[in-house]
Amino acid sequence: LQNLVYLVATIKIGTSFVWMIVVSLNTNMGVAWHRFLAFPNIWFKREASGGTALGGLQPMTSGGKPIDFTDPGDDDVFGVSQVEQFSWKGLLDFSTCTECGRCQSQCPAWNTGKPLSPKLLIMSLRDHAHAKAPYLLAGGGKDMEGNEKASAEQLKDVPAAALAEAERPLIGTLEENGVIDPDVLWSCTTCGACVEQCPVDIEHIDHIVDMRRYQVMIESAFPSEAGTMLKNLEKKGNPWGLAKKQRLEWTKEVDFEIPVVGRDLEDLSEVEYLYWVGCAGALEDRAKKTTKAFAELLHMAGVKFAIMGGDEKCTGDSARRLGNEPLFQELGMENVMS
Ligand code: SF4
Ligand code: SF4
Repeated sequence: LQNLVYLVATIKIGTSFVWMIVVSLNTNMGVAWHRFLAFPNIWFKREASGGTALGGLQPMTSGGKPIDFTDPGDDDVFGVSQVEQFSWKGLLDFSTCTECGRCQSQCPAWNTGKPLSPKLLIMSLRDHAHAKAPYLLAGGGKDMEGNEKASAEQLKDVPAAALAEAERPLIGTLEENGVIDPDVLWSCTTCGACVEQCPVDIEHIDHIVDMRRYQVMIESAFPSEAGTMLKNLEKKGNPWGLAKKQRLEWTKEVDFEIPVVGRDLEDLSEVEYLYWVGCAGALEDRAKKTTKAFAELLHMAGVKFAIMGGDEKCTGDSARRLGNEPLFQELGMENVMS
């Protein structure tokens, strides 16, 4: 019996050692590494309250500081164009993925045949970060003009595979040997199902939007439909490019008066609530039905309310989710001022 115990203990210790060696040599083995990384990743999640990282997007930062779009610094970096520009939390997120696939099974893009799988996206970023790591650890990296920062002497011991990985664009097609295909990047609806489902609290949307920010603001590379929408938001303050006076058309379709601030009312002191109708609510046929029904309910309940009418602009939410943070800020400020 004693010898049997020795045998079982030897096999167990031997297996544990082999497992530790395999895991140590394969730092991108998420299935094993999440056992160590899940706890810190959940601990350092964006919401200190313990809630999932949904709701408002993170403000744009450069070097950890929020960017002031009215007077951006010369060396401010907009968005992410290289894997090392993700925050340390981003890199921790990528390494923690258990490859369980819960995010993928809930993703509306994946379930409607789009090329985006949040699981594969996170795994691609992880594999790329780990493969590029020897180059970065040797001091490698590109400056803002795309020039190599490290000397040939510094990079002489870096394996050829790591040097080749460093040449891959973060966003690029298969032909360009990109890490993330543009079609993958632009398929995300930012619905948040992946963030909600992830058992180790990976915050996919923050990383997707950071990559979009660089594409939109520096490369001006986005789908043509998005370009039309952004132009309409800039010029007309709504995604469809409709005239401002059309925002009030729905008020003619209800049989009671809806006061408009600035036209019927001097200011908001005379009413209890400002009813924010929004672009879709004011301009899109199906959403207009909801707007009218809600206004009717308020009217029947005797609630005093007013709308902004033609003065309100898009909240800029869609621009923000596409990565155009300055346009979001601009529209937001204009709404606050009016
Ligand atoms: S946020 Fe994007 S990646 Fe995540 S489930 Fe929704 S569409 Fe898919
Ligand atoms: S749900 Fe989270 S852990 Fe699971 S595959 Fe998706 S990103 Fe990885």
